[in-house]
Amino acid sequence: MGRSDAGLHSRRRACQGSTRLKVLLGMMAVSLLSVPTVPRVIVDAAGLASDMCAKNVADINTEVERWAFVNGCWPKDGLSDIAADPAYRVGEALLCPVTGKAYELDPITHRVKPHAH
Ligand SMILES: [Zn+2]
Repeated sequence: MGRSDAGLHSRRRACQGSTRLKVLLGMMAVSLLSVPTVPRVIVDAAGLASDMCAKNVADINTEVERWAFVNGCWPKDGLSDIAADPAYRVGEALLCPVTGKAYELDPITHRVKPHAH
């Protein structure tokens, strides 16, 4: 009885050793796989800036509508009046994070002119 217990114990120990090796190999595989993701992160950063632009456009359009509701007129197409008013949260979002250009409103629709990027 005692002998077979010792045998089982040593077999379990051998199993634990190979498990540790598998974990080590798995960690090495993960670290190797993560190397090609570095350029993908850079591409994602460009996509993120484009997403930020879309969010800025949506935020500005929302604030423009609020301005029109409160004041009974549309803000200037260059957004200078709404940007100067601290009650409206457009001041920090006036430049496109992709092109660096200022946003401006379409004089007919009073929506931010869409960006081609
Ligand atoms: Zn943009």
